[in-house]
Amino acid sequence: MFEPIGPHVQKNEPEPGYVEEMHLMGDLEDIYRKVSNGERLTREEGVRLYNTDNILALGHMANLVRERINGANTYFVKNYYLNYTNICELDCKFCSFYRKEGQEGAFLMSLDQIFNIVKGDKENITEMHMVGGLHNGLPYDYYLDLLRGIKKIDPRIYIKAFTAVEIEFFARLYGLTVERVLLDLKEAGLDAMPGGGAEIFSQRVREKMFADKIGAEEWISVIKTAHRLGIPSNATMLYGHMEKVEERVDHLIRLREVQDETKGFFAFIPLAYHPHVEDSTQWATGIDNLKSIAVGRLMLDNFPHIKAYWISMGPKVAQISLSFGADDLDGTVRDERVFHMAGASTENALTKRQLVKLIKDAGRVPIERDALYHAIEGFA
Ligand code: SF4
Repeated sequence: MFEPIGPHVQKNEPEPGYVEEMHLMGDLEDIYRKVSNGERLTREEGVRLYNTDNILALGHMANLVRERINGANTYFVKNYYLNYTNICELDCKFCSFYRKEGQEGAFLMSLDQIFNIVKGDKENITEMHMVGGLHNGLPYDYYLDLLRGIKKIDPRIYIKAFTAVEIEFFARLYGLTVERVLLDLKEAGLDAMPGGGAEIFSQRVREKMFADKIGAEEWISVIKTAHRLGIPSNATMLYGHMEKVEERVDHLIRLREVQDETKGFFAFIPLAYHPHVEDSTQWATGIDNLKSIAVGRLMLDNFPHIKAYWISMGPKVAQISLSFGADDLDGTVRDERVFHMAGASTENALTKRQLVKLIKDAGRVPIERDALYHAIEGFA
Protein backbone atom coordinates (compact mmCIF):
# COMPACT_ATOMS: atom_id res chain seq x y z
CA MET A 1 0.00 0.00 0.00
CA PHE A 2 1.21 3.49 -0.83
CA GLU A 3 2.70 5.39 2.11
CA PRO A 4 2.97 9.17 1.69
CA ILE A 5 6.47 10.53 2.16
CA GLY A 6 6.85 13.39 4.59
CA PRO A 7 5.87 14.25 8.11
CA HIS A 8 3.76 11.55 9.62
CA VAL A 9 3.10 10.16 13.04
CA GLN A 10 3.63 6.48 13.78
CA LYS A 11 1.12 4.83 16.03
CA ASN A 12 3.54 4.31 18.87
CA GLU A 13 4.69 7.98 18.90
CA PRO A 14 3.32 10.50 21.40
CA GLU A 15 0.42 12.70 20.38
CA PRO A 16 1.40 15.54 18.02
CA GLY A 17 2.43 18.56 20.06
CA TYR A 18 3.78 16.55 22.92
CA VAL A 19 7.47 17.17 23.34
CA GLU A 20 9.66 15.13 25.61
CA GLU A 21 11.33 18.29 26.73
CA MET A 22 13.38 16.83 29.52
CA HIS A 23 14.81 14.22 27.19
CA LEU A 24 15.70 16.87 24.60
CA MET A 25 17.51 18.94 27.21
CA GLY A 26 20.33 16.37 27.56
CA ASP A 27 22.84 17.57 30.14
CA LEU A 28 20.99 20.92 30.46
CA GLU A 29 18.10 19.21 32.24
CA ASP A 30 18.87 20.80 35.63
CA ILE A 31 19.01 24.27 34.05
CA TYR A 32 15.77 23.64 32.20
CA ARG A 33 14.09 22.76 35.49
CA LYS A 34 15.25 26.07 36.98
CA VAL A 35 14.15 28.05 33.93
CA SER A 36 10.73 26.40 34.05
CA ASN A 37 10.41 27.38 37.70
CA GLY A 38 11.50 30.95 37.01
CA GLU A 39 14.65 30.58 39.12
CA ARG A 40 17.70 32.78 38.59
CA LEU A 41 20.68 31.17 36.85
CA THR A 42 24.22 31.23 38.21
CA ARG A 43 27.49 32.24 36.58
CA GLU A 44 28.46 28.57 36.11
CA GLU A 45 25.13 27.82 34.46
CA GLY A 46 25.59 30.78 32.13
CA VAL A 47 28.98 29.40 31.07
CA ARG A 48 27.48 25.96 30.48
CA LEU A 49 24.78 27.50 28.32
CA TYR A 50 27.34 29.32 26.20
CA ASN A 51 29.42 26.15 25.83
CA THR A 52 26.59 23.83 24.88
CA ASP A 53 26.22 22.40 21.39
CA ASN A 54 22.58 21.69 22.12
CA ILE A 55 21.48 24.88 20.42
CA LEU A 56 17.84 23.85 20.11
CA ALA A 57 17.55 23.13 23.84
CA LEU A 58 19.13 26.50 24.54
CA GLY A 59 16.73 28.22 22.16
CA HIS A 60 13.75 26.41 23.61
CA MET A 61 14.59 27.57 27.14
CA ALA A 62 15.19 31.15 26.02
CA ASN A 63 11.94 31.09 24.12
CA LEU A 64 10.08 29.99 27.25
CA VAL A 65 11.31 33.09 29.05
CA ARG A 66 10.69 35.31 26.02
CA GLU A 67 7.09 34.16 25.78
CA ARG A 68 6.60 34.39 29.54
CA ILE A 69 7.60 38.06 29.44
CA ASN A 70 6.47 39.23 26.02
CA GLY A 71 4.25 36.52 24.55
CA ALA A 72 4.52 36.57 20.75
CA ASN A 73 4.92 40.36 20.68
CA THR A 74 7.87 41.59 18.67
CA TYR A 75 8.72 45.25 18.72
CA PHE A 76 10.25 47.63 16.23
CA VAL A 77 10.51 51.39 15.92
CA LYS A 78 10.73 53.88 13.08
CA ASN A 79 14.12 55.31 13.93
CA TYR A 80 16.96 57.23 12.36
CA TYR A 81 20.56 56.51 13.29
CA LEU A 82 22.50 59.73 13.21
CA ASN A 83 26.23 59.91 13.84
CA TYR A 84 26.94 63.59 14.26
CA THR A 85 30.72 63.18 14.08
CA ASN A 86 33.31 60.44 13.83
CA ILE A 87 36.14 62.65 15.05
CA CYS A 88 37.31 61.06 18.26
CA GLU A 89 40.12 61.61 20.73
CA LEU A 90 40.34 57.85 21.37
CA ASP A 91 41.48 55.05 19.09
CA CYS A 92 39.80 51.88 20.31
CA LYS A 93 41.33 48.90 18.49
CA PHE A 94 38.01 47.39 17.42
CA CYS A 95 36.64 50.65 15.98
CA SER A 96 36.64 51.38 12.24
CA PHE A 97 34.39 54.38 12.65
CA TYR A 98 36.63 56.98 14.27
CA ARG A 99 38.93 59.43 12.46
CA LYS A 100 41.29 62.09 13.65
CA GLU A 101 40.55 65.71 12.72
CA GLY A 102 41.71 66.40 9.15
CA GLN A 103 42.06 62.71 8.32
CA GLU A 104 40.34 61.44 5.18
CA GLY A 105 36.80 60.33 5.99
CA ALA A 106 36.49 62.53 9.08
CA PHE A 107 33.16 64.30 9.34
CA LEU A 108 31.28 66.63 11.64
CA MET A 109 27.66 67.50 10.95
CA SER A 110 26.48 71.04 11.50
CA LEU A 111 23.28 71.54 13.46
CA ASP A 112 21.60 72.86 10.31
CA GLN A 113 22.52 69.72 8.39
CA ILE A 114 21.00 67.59 11.14
CA PHE A 115 17.88 69.74 11.43
CA ASN A 116 17.33 69.55 7.67
CA ILE A 117 17.42 65.75 7.81
CA VAL A 118 14.87 65.73 10.62
CA LYS A 119 12.62 68.31 8.92
CA GLY A 120 12.70 66.40 5.64
CA ASP A 121 11.83 63.05 7.19
CA LYS A 122 9.96 63.71 10.40
CA GLU A 123 6.91 61.69 9.33
CA ASN A 124 9.12 58.61 9.30
CA ILE A 125 10.95 59.23 12.56
CA THR A 126 9.59 58.17 15.93
CA GLU A 127 13.02 58.00 17.52
CA MET A 128 16.33 59.72 16.81
CA HIS A 129 19.26 57.56 17.86
CA MET A 130 22.36 59.75 18.04
CA VAL A 131 25.91 58.85 19.03
CA GLY A 132 29.27 60.17 17.95
CA GLY A 133 33.00 60.22 18.52
CA LEU A 134 34.60 62.10 21.41
CA HIS A 135 35.22 65.44 19.65
CA ASN A 136 37.18 67.78 21.90
CA GLY A 137 36.59 70.91 19.83
CA LEU A 138 32.85 71.40 20.14
CA PRO A 139 31.14 73.78 22.57
CA TYR A 140 28.74 72.34 25.16
CA ASP A 141 25.92 74.24 23.49
CA TYR A 142 26.33 72.12 20.35
CA TYR A 143 24.77 69.18 22.19
CA LEU A 144 22.13 71.20 24.05
CA ASP A 145 21.10 73.04 20.87
CA LEU A 146 21.02 69.74 18.99
CA LEU A 147 18.43 68.34 21.37
CA ARG A 148 16.43 71.57 21.64
CA GLY A 149 16.40 72.00 17.86
CA ILE A 150 15.04 68.51 17.18
CA LYS A 151 12.33 68.91 19.82
CA LYS A 152 11.42 72.26 18.28
CA ILE A 153 11.00 70.68 14.86
CA ASP A 154 8.76 67.96 16.29
CA PRO A 155 8.27 67.49 20.03
CA ARG A 156 6.86 64.02 19.41
CA ILE A 157 10.24 62.69 18.32
CA TYR A 158 11.94 60.71 21.10
CA ILE A 159 15.62 61.37 21.45
CA LYS A 160 17.84 58.50 22.49
CA ALA A 161 21.35 59.84 22.47
CA PHE A 162 24.89 59.79 23.89
CA THR A 163 26.47 56.69 25.36
CA ALA A 164 27.81 56.65 28.91
CA VAL A 165 31.27 57.13 27.35
CA GLU A 166 30.15 60.38 25.72
CA ILE A 167 28.45 61.60 28.89
CA GLU A 168 31.62 61.05 30.95
CA PHE A 169 33.61 62.79 28.21
CA PHE A 170 31.33 65.84 28.27
CA ALA A 171 31.68 66.05 32.06
CA ARG A 172 35.47 65.90 31.82
CA LEU A 173 35.74 68.30 28.86
CA TYR A 174 33.42 70.98 30.20
CA GLY A 175 34.38 70.64 33.89
CA LEU A 176 30.92 69.53 35.03
CA THR A 177 29.65 66.62 37.05
CA VAL A 178 28.05 63.70 35.25
CA GLU A 179 24.83 64.52 37.06
CA ARG A 180 24.90 68.15 35.85
CA VAL A 181 25.49 67.05 32.25
CA LEU A 182 22.64 64.57 32.39
CA LEU A 183 20.27 67.10 33.94
CA ASP A 184 21.17 69.70 31.30
CA LEU A 185 20.70 67.23 28.48
CA LYS A 186 17.43 66.00 29.92
CA GLU A 187 16.12 69.51 30.20
CA ALA A 188 17.15 70.14 26.59
CA GLY A 189 15.20 67.11 25.35
CA LEU A 190 17.08 63.89 26.05
CA ASP A 191 14.56 61.08 26.64
CA ALA A 192 16.76 58.01 26.89
CA MET A 193 20.29 56.77 26.37
CA PRO A 194 21.52 54.00 24.06
CA GLY A 195 23.47 51.14 25.61
CA GLY A 196 26.74 51.56 23.71
CA GLY A 197 30.21 51.92 25.16
CA ALA A 198 29.80 49.04 27.60
CA GLU A 199 31.75 46.80 25.17
CA ILE A 200 32.84 43.98 27.48
CA PHE A 201 33.46 44.70 31.15
CA SER A 202 36.53 42.45 31.42
CA GLN A 203 39.53 44.52 32.53
CA ARG A 204 41.84 42.10 30.67
CA VAL A 205 40.13 42.82 27.34
CA ARG A 206 39.73 46.52 28.00
CA GLU A 207 43.46 46.93 28.58
CA LYS A 208 44.27 45.21 25.29
CA MET A 209 41.59 46.72 23.08
CA PHE A 210 40.57 50.10 24.47
CA ALA A 211 42.78 50.97 27.41
CA ASP A 212 41.92 54.68 27.34
CA LYS A 213 38.17 54.25 27.40
CA ILE A 214 36.32 54.59 30.69
CA GLY A 215 36.29 51.36 32.69
CA ALA A 216 33.38 49.16 33.63
CA GLU A 217 32.88 50.89 36.98
CA GLU A 218 32.65 54.33 35.36
CA TRP A 219 30.26 53.10 32.67
CA ILE A 220 28.04 51.57 35.32
CA SER A 221 28.27 54.68 37.48
CA VAL A 222 27.11 56.96 34.61
CA ILE A 223 24.25 54.58 33.81
CA LYS A 224 23.14 54.37 37.42
CA THR A 225 23.15 58.17 37.64
CA ALA A 226 21.06 58.41 34.47
CA HIS A 227 18.55 55.88 35.75
CA ARG A 228 18.31 57.71 39.07
CA LEU A 229 17.55 60.94 37.19
CA GLY A 230 14.76 59.29 35.21
CA ILE A 231 16.71 58.67 32.00
CA PRO A 232 16.28 55.02 30.99
CA SER A 233 18.79 53.25 28.78
CA ASN A 234 19.71 50.07 26.98
CA ALA A 235 22.78 47.94 27.63
CA THR A 236 25.07 46.34 25.07
CA MET A 237 27.78 43.70 24.98
CA LEU A 238 30.39 43.54 22.23
CA TYR A 239 31.30 39.92 21.56
CA GLY A 240 33.18 37.79 19.05
CA HIS A 241 36.64 39.33 19.47
CA MET A 242 39.15 38.21 22.12
CA GLU A 243 36.81 37.81 25.08
CA LYS A 244 36.26 34.48 26.80
CA VAL A 245 32.87 32.94 27.46
CA GLU A 246 33.40 33.49 31.19
CA GLU A 247 33.91 37.20 30.53
CA ARG A 248 30.67 37.40 28.58
CA VAL A 249 28.77 35.80 31.44
CA ASP A 250 30.44 38.07 33.95
CA HIS A 251 29.31 41.03 31.82
CA LEU A 252 25.73 39.79 31.90
CA ILE A 253 25.77 39.28 35.65
CA ARG A 254 27.04 42.80 36.26
CA LEU A 255 24.24 44.18 34.07
CA ARG A 256 21.73 42.07 35.97
CA GLU A 257 22.98 43.48 39.26
CA VAL A 258 22.59 47.05 38.00
CA GLN A 259 19.08 46.29 36.82
CA ASP A 260 18.17 44.78 40.20
CA GLU A 261 19.13 48.11 41.70
CA THR A 262 17.79 50.66 39.20
CA LYS A 263 15.26 48.92 36.93
CA GLY A 264 16.30 51.48 34.33
CA PHE A 265 17.28 49.21 31.43
CA PHE A 266 14.84 48.57 28.62
CA ALA A 267 16.75 46.17 26.44
CA PHE A 268 19.91 44.13 26.27
CA ILE A 269 21.59 44.27 22.85
CA PRO A 270 24.41 41.87 22.05
CA LEU A 271 26.60 43.41 19.34
CA ALA A 272 28.67 41.16 17.11
CA TYR A 273 32.20 42.40 16.51
CA HIS A 274 33.08 43.18 12.89
CA PRO A 275 36.80 42.69 12.23
CA HIS A 276 38.46 45.08 9.82
CA VAL A 277 40.87 42.40 8.58
CA GLU A 278 39.37 40.62 5.60
CA ASP A 279 40.14 36.95 6.30
CA SER A 280 40.03 37.22 10.08
CA THR A 281 38.44 34.30 11.89
CA GLN A 282 37.66 36.64 14.75
CA TRP A 283 34.02 37.16 13.99
CA ALA A 284 30.78 35.98 15.47
CA THR A 285 29.11 33.18 13.51
CA GLY A 286 25.36 32.71 13.20
CA ILE A 287 25.38 30.18 16.05
CA ASP A 288 27.33 32.59 18.24
CA ASN A 289 24.77 35.30 17.47
CA LEU A 290 21.89 33.01 18.45
CA LYS A 291 23.69 31.89 21.60
CA SER A 292 24.34 35.47 22.65
CA ILE A 293 20.66 36.31 22.29
CA ALA A 294 19.53 33.14 24.09
CA VAL A 295 22.04 33.27 26.96
CA GLY A 296 21.27 36.99 27.36
CA ARG A 297 17.54 36.20 27.64
CA LEU A 298 18.18 33.45 30.18
CA MET A 299 20.69 35.28 32.38
CA LEU A 300 19.00 38.71 32.29
CA ASP A 301 15.77 37.60 33.90
CA ASN A 302 15.06 41.19 34.99
CA PHE A 303 15.41 42.81 31.55
CA PRO A 304 12.07 43.40 29.82
CA HIS A 305 13.49 43.14 26.28
CA ILE A 306 16.24 41.45 24.29
CA LYS A 307 17.02 43.17 21.04
CA ALA A 308 18.31 41.46 17.90
CA TYR A 309 20.25 44.24 16.20
CA TRP A 310 19.83 43.21 12.58
CA ILE A 311 22.50 45.65 11.41
CA SER A 312 25.19 43.59 13.13
CA MET A 313 23.83 40.03 12.79
CA GLY A 314 21.91 40.43 9.53
CA PRO A 315 18.10 40.47 9.13
CA LYS A 316 17.82 36.72 8.55
CA VAL A 317 19.66 35.60 11.68
CA ALA A 318 17.87 38.35 13.60
CA GLN A 319 14.58 36.90 12.37
CA ILE A 320 15.52 33.40 13.58
CA SER A 321 16.60 34.87 16.91
CA LEU A 322 12.93 35.75 17.52
CA SER A 323 12.61 32.07 18.49
CA PHE A 324 15.79 32.19 20.59
CA GLY A 325 14.80 34.84 23.10
CA ALA A 326 14.69 38.12 21.16
CA ASP A 327 11.49 40.18 21.16
CA ASP A 328 12.75 43.37 19.51
CA LEU A 329 14.11 43.89 16.00
CA ASP A 330 15.31 47.46 16.56
CA GLY A 331 13.91 49.45 13.68
CA THR A 332 14.19 50.98 10.27
CA VAL A 333 17.60 52.38 11.35
CA ARG A 334 18.75 54.20 8.18
CA ASP A 335 22.13 55.80 7.70
CA GLU A 336 23.95 53.62 10.25
CA ARG A 337 27.70 54.15 9.94
CA VAL A 338 29.46 52.54 12.91
CA PHE A 339 29.05 48.96 11.67
CA HIS A 340 29.05 49.79 7.99
CA MET A 341 32.39 51.56 8.22
CA ALA A 342 33.69 48.29 9.74
CA GLY A 343 32.51 46.45 6.64
CA ALA A 344 29.06 45.24 7.65
CA SER A 345 27.41 43.94 4.49
CA THR A 346 23.89 44.26 5.82
CA GLU A 347 21.35 46.66 4.37
CA ASN A 348 21.54 50.25 5.55
CA ALA A 349 17.82 50.43 6.21
CA LEU A 350 14.71 48.29 6.33
CA THR A 351 11.25 49.62 5.66
CA LYS A 352 8.38 49.19 8.06
CA ARG A 353 6.78 46.70 5.65
CA GLN A 354 9.96 44.63 5.51
CA LEU A 355 10.19 44.52 9.31
CA VAL A 356 6.55 43.48 9.57
CA LYS A 357 7.15 40.69 7.03
CA LEU A 358 10.25 39.42 8.85
CA ILE A 359 8.33 39.30 12.13
CA LYS A 360 5.16 37.76 10.71
CA ASP A 361 7.08 35.08 8.84
CA ALA A 362 8.68 34.13 12.15
CA GLY A 363 5.19 33.49 13.54
CA ARG A 364 5.33 36.53 15.80
CA VAL A 365 3.10 39.56 16.25
CA PRO A 366 4.69 42.79 14.99
CA ILE A 367 4.17 45.85 17.15
CA GLU A 368 5.44 49.25 16.16
CA ARG A 369 6.58 50.96 19.35
CA ASP A 370 7.92 54.27 20.55
CA ALA A 371 11.24 54.64 22.34
CA LEU A 372 9.64 53.78 25.67
CA TYR A 373 7.99 50.60 24.33
CA HIS A 374 4.51 52.04 24.17
CA ALA A 375 2.61 50.35 21.33
CA ILE A 376 1.84 52.62 18.37
CA GLU A 377 0.40 50.10 15.95
CA GLY A 378 -0.14 46.34 15.92
CA PHE A 379 -0.18 44.08 12.86
CA ALA A 380 -1.94 40.93 14.03
S1 SF4 B 1 34.61 53.20 19.84
FE1 SF4 B 1 33.85 55.26 20.27
S2 SF4 B 1 35.35 56.08 21.71
FE2 SF4 B 1 36.35 54.31 20.72
S3 SF4 B 1 37.45 55.20 18.96
FE3 SF4 B 1 35.41 54.54 18.23
S4 SF4 B 1 34.19 56.40 18.34
FE4 SF4 B 1 35.98 56.73 19.64
